[in-house]
Amino acid sequence: MSLPLGHATAGLTVAVIFANREEFSLKKYSYYVWAVILSGLPDIDFFLYLIVPDRHLAFIYRHTVTHSIPFFIVITPMLIWVLPWKPRWRCAMIAFSILTLHSVMDCLYRDTPVTFLWPFSNAMVNYELLPDIKIMGDMNVLIQPYTLFHTIVEGVIGLIIFILVVKLKWRALSHDQTAFS
Ligand SMILES: [Zn+2]
Repeated sequence: MSLPLGHATAGLTVAVIFANREEFSLKKYSYYVWAVILSGLPDIDFFLYLIVPDRHLAFIYRHTVTHSIPFFIVITPMLIWVLPWKPRWRCAMIAFSILTLHSVMDCLYRDTPVTFLWPFSNAMVNYELLPDIKIMGDMNVLIQPYTLFHTIVEGVIGLIIFILVVKLKWRALSHDQTAFS
């Protein structure tokens, strides 16, 4: 699985890619707060560790319902009533993109397959491209040196991509302004 810092920077990057001139501002932080919340929303299934006594069983059920594309299709029309992006079709596009990117990031890691098409298919997608951190409900794993190293590496890579996208967006919006002035 990807860790929270990696998901957060990915969500922020998507929000910047789709941002219009009004949203591309530090003063409009609510758009970016919501992007971070959305980027972590699929991991709401972490609560399974609290209700399923067997951690290994809970781990098997994770990355199914709340990480599936049909779930995102169902939940997105509900989310647009609370999310700040306007108009609604654009809000739906941004929310759906951030949620889907979360699942894509998760399936890049070893041993953490994602059931993208649940409930229509139980096929698990897993590319095993990156080494994994298995928290499996044990929050102590988060403060282990290897996990901290992993979090920092993921966060730094995410931050570099975010900064590059911000620079490109800034240039694009400035270019548009010059073209219309
Ligand atoms: Zn996840």
